[in-house]
Amino acid sequence: MYDEDFEEMEMPCPCNNCGDWFDLNSGSASNKWYPNTVICKSCGDIEDHEVDIDNEEEDLLIEIENGNNIRANKKRLKEIGRPFKKKN
Ligand SMILES: [Zn+2]
Repeated sequence: MYDEDFEEMEMPCPCNNCGDWFDLNSGSASNKWYPNTVICKSCGDIEDHEVDIDNEEEDLLIEIENGNNIRANKKRLKEIGRPFKKKN
């Protein structure tokens, strides 16, 4: 990073996740990884995506538990990278 970028930041702070410096004003509030913490925008986007997948996985598991579209829902779980595992 150039010094000029650093000086342009109003509230520079290091990202908890990647360690890069970012402007607090343009950061992203973390919910899952670092509750009550602001992380940089690019890490925030990755986290948001992960949370989306978590939510979809949760919905699909509920559907499977309820016996709805089990085959399709299991296939979708595989597609989102969360293959179905039987609970112990
Ligand atoms: Zn980051």
